Amino acid sequence: MGIKVAKFGGSSVADAIQIRKLRDIVSADESIKYVVVSAPGKRYADDSKVTDLLYLCKTHIEHKIPYEQIFQVIYDRFMAVEADLGVDVNIKAELGTIKRDIEEGASVDYIASRGEYLNAKIIAAYLGFDFVDAKEIIKFNEKGKLMEDLTNDLISKTLQNHKSAVIPGFYGEKLEDGAIKTFSRGGSDITGALVARGVGAEVYENWTDVSGFLMADPRIVNNPKPIEKISYMELRELSYMGASVLHEDAIFPAKVAGIPINIRNTNRPQDPGTMITADLEVHENQIISGIAGRKNFTVIAIYKNHLANEKGFIRRLAGIIEDHDMTIEHLPTGIDTMSVVIDNKVLNGKLDEIVEECKYQLKPDSIEVVEDMALIATVGAGMSARKGTSARLFTSLAEAGVNIRMIDQGSSEMNIIVGVEEKDFETAIKAIYKAFVE
Ligand code: ASP
Repeated sequence: MGIKVAKFGGSSVADAIQIRKLRDIVSADESIKYVVVSAPGKRYADDSKVTDLLYLCKTHIEHKIPYEQIFQVIYDRFMAVEADLGVDVNIKAELGTIKRDIEEGASVDYIASRGEYLNAKIIAAYLGFDFVDAKEIIKFNEKGKLMEDLTNDLISKTLQNHKSAVIPGFYGEKLEDGAIKTFSRGGSDITGALVARGVGAEVYENWTDVSGFLMADPRIVNNPKPIEKISYMELRELSYMGASVLHEDAIFPAKVAGIPINIRNTNRPQDPGTMITADLEVHENQIISGIAGRKNFTVIAIYKNHLANEKGFIRRLAGIIEDHDMTIEHLPTGIDTMSVVIDNKVLNGKLDEIVEECKYQLKPDSIEVVEDMALIATVGAGMSARKGTSARLFTSLAEAGVNIRMIDQGSSEMNIIVGVEEKDFETAIKAIYKAFVE
């Protein structure tokens, strides 16, 4: 039986009630040997996250404003969890040490990391697992960059000596001087992925408060279905197009090791969640994996008779964009037309300049500019193997009265991107969802 690593996010470890759920999950699955935990997150909508409170302590001190009241909130929360769970890890003494360190000018990273540290201590005792401090196994260089190979080795060697362990997420230490260093916010996901890689886990479970990713934005599509299975590659396409999924950094260690990530819901452990797999998988009854899109693009379409026969046209066009230090999002072409799609943020008010330059250098017959374009990506490994997918997509848009201004299909055939006017964005997403999912 393979090993599983389970990471529990802030809301999954926010108080004793949540930590009991965590224990039920862990004790129901013997293969979960290593657990990575966040600091206590929000218990209700306008609650505070412990990490935010810790940062707040530091800012107060920097501005010479009393911080004790904020620290007291953190103190009370941890004391209550320890008492409630009936464990004794002497959190009181730990909190005393932290308070003293804060007063003696401890660094912001050290202070911010203490939420994970204390939570891991309590949860390890409650589960009867060993506590392994992240600073022993996660190392950064003097510039604050993660030392990937050393970290991987340390995780692998250290955890071999622990049958089961709880590890605090979010931080490690600088090899040079042993100073605590945190990842960016939300960084416990990275710790989880690193641990999964280090121990060669069969699956990396990421427990949160949703039952996985949804096939479309729920603000646009009513009750979209969850994505059951999706590959890293498809997920990347979706997140690039604006779907809010795990941060790239948070998945890279698991991805390079080919470890699947399973997003699960601590409050609904019966739901299978979303499985992110290393390989593309085609499913009989699932053509698309998801739909995502973004607004705020500009298309510059250049028309010129016999453009296809003109040498160096693409190079000159791309050169104009490059000279303005911009990137091209897409480059759809026709026989006598070529368009560039540029993100409005990148364009940054330089549209007229670029159009003038195109007129001057490319001598086109005409140029058309569409400023408020939205791009929508329909993503799915299942699309390539199936005939008629694009016909279905375009028909659905036509029937919904949406004018398609641009089409781009990657050569992987894993996604089809359409450009529509911004006013049609929501209608288009609904229509595509209906055509493929409902
Ligand atoms: N507690 C940290 C944060 O709030 C890290 C994490 O939860 O992943 O950003």
